Amino acid sequence: MAKSSKGCAIGIDLGTTYSCVGVWEEKHSTVAIIYNDQGKQTTPSFVAFTEDERLIGDAAKNQAATNPQNTVFDAKRLIGRKFSDLKVQKDKILWPFNVIAGMKDKPMISVKYKGQEKNLCAEEISSMVLTKMREIAEAYLESPVKNAVITVPAYFNDSQRKATIDAGVIAGLNVLKIINEPTAAAIAYGLDKRTNCVGERNIFVFDLGGGTFDVSLLTIKDKVFEVKATGGNTHLGGEDFDNRLVNYFVKEFKKKENLNIIGNPKALRRLRTACEEAKRALSFAVMTNVVVDALFQGVDFSSSITRAKFEEINMDLFDKCMSIVERCLTDAKMDKSSVDDVVLVGGSSRIPKVQQLLQNFFKRKELCQSINPDEAVAYGAAVQAALLSRGIKNVPKLVLIDVAPLSLGWCILHGVMSVVIPRNTSIPVKKTKKYTTVEDNQSVVPIKVYEGERTRASDNHFLGSFVLSGLPPAARGHLYDVCFDVDQNGILTVSAIDKSTGSKNELTITNDKGRLSTEEIKRLIQEAEAYSVSDRNFLRKAEVMNELDECVYKMRNLLKKKDASLKLSSEENKKIRSRKFT
Ligand code: AMP
Repeated sequence: MAKSSKGCAIGIDLGTTYSCVGVWEEKHSTVAIIYNDQGKQTTPSFVAFTEDERLIGDAAKNQAATNPQNTVFDAKRLIGRKFSDLKVQKDKILWPFNVIAGMKDKPMISVKYKGQEKNLCAEEISSMVLTKMREIAEAYLESPVKNAVITVPAYFNDSQRKATIDAGVIAGLNVLKIINEPTAAAIAYGLDKRTNCVGERNIFVFDLGGGTFDVSLLTIKDKVFEVKATGGNTHLGGEDFDNRLVNYFVKEFKKKENLNIIGNPKALRRLRTACEEAKRALSFAVMTNVVVDALFQGVDFSSSITRAKFEEINMDLFDKCMSIVERCLTDAKMDKSSVDDVVLVGGSSRIPKVQQLLQNFFKRKELCQSINPDEAVAYGAAVQAALLSRGIKNVPKLVLIDVAPLSLGWCILHGVMSVVIPRNTSIPVKKTKKYTTVEDNQSVVPIKVYEGERTRASDNHFLGSFVLSGLPPAARGHLYDVCFDVDQNGILTVSAIDKSTGSKNELTITNDKGRLSTEEIKRLIQEAEAYSVSDRNFLRKAEVMNELDECVYKMRNLLKKKDASLKLSSEENKKIRSRKFT
């Protein structure tokens, strides 16, 4: 069951590049998307470390070009992954910050903070972004916030989900629930449309963000939002389009100037920022310039790119998106003509080529852009947070039925994946399957758990293992049960029982994937507190310095005035000069 809480709870869209926070407002019966201290509704998911302080959000992103090695972003691309993951290895080349292998193959981000080297895991960086989002909400609500619903890509696997919950815990949040981003967006869309539509509607949510791509097909009927199928890629989004542009211009610079900027974090960071701007501009213009003064070794870079070229260098990625759309419909056993609305979410859904491909696929159906693609996910999360909080009034009593994004099973004889919960099964779900021993007098069964769609278990994603022991001496074919239990956050517990002896063993998938242990989480919570104490001290010091500056300024002005008052005015001067002394 989902946790419930008393008092205010917020909804946080923890994005790869930007994050957003919302809260249900009883008075207006709607969600308020909360603006940050810069007056913006989204906050960069950036954390920076300097000689004196730690910066989060806009402040971190704004100084990225001067301090690239110690400015961390894209933590969501690392969370729940191993260092040896090919995707991590590929991303690492273009990141200006350093990522090294930690214990249990956990990727660690290495930065310099107050003159000392620090190694941080992705959960810690994400917890800092979550802390910032909480503070934004607290400033708006003028009260402390403890409870939150956090969104994750629908296609996040078990370890990525758990690592996100850990990040919330480190940030001092009580994570009421993890919900899928496209489902949250569908809530925003559904509530927006509720007054205008009757009966059942099939909604296709296309969510292309900064680092992840998700699609979900939902049916909305009255107050029930039921996900029929979901699909996606947790490593496909705006950052990849930026990377393509960066690579394109790196080559051009090399060709023109015979200079290679790969390996120079400062130059790469500045080129990346210019590329992201160019990409955004190409959503509105057919051509744009990319200019970076003194890009490398004092040499300026100036070039231009057309929308057609941008589309050409990213076409395979756009095609990838479309095949995921197709597969989601096949999984839901629904023809595209039965889709009533196609809802666009995520900043990258603004790319004209993406919209064109989608429109062609859905036979020129009008794409729904009535909801704000940057805010929809936080909006839905805030509604869910309010629903899980006791005593909040006027919240629409909707019911969410989500699905498991990947098939879950375990490795049986000859390395075959025996699926217990097929992908797109509604959650929460508990399924038990009967198995038999394969040898005479077999006393133990090793249970290796995987998620994924391949028939050979080892080709899938390994989640963890345990052993069912204490089976009685018997001929092969002795029966035992294996039970897979997925909770409402999409988190799995596997148990096995031999009913003849009552022997039982179970596993909530934990450390095999490099998840943080309870002790490590405790330590990181303490460290997070130390960071905020240090931040507060720094802020206090800055305020004192500011007060001092102001004091000096006032004193100086006062003295100037006094000085001036001691001086004679020109009138007085004239008078004195004209005075005759007798
Ligand atoms: P999100 O994760 O939904 O906040 O999306 C962020 C991503 O959307 C980033 O990669 C942005 O560069 C990208 N983005 C935002 N606006 C646009 C636009 N007008 N055209 C193309 N991409 C955009």
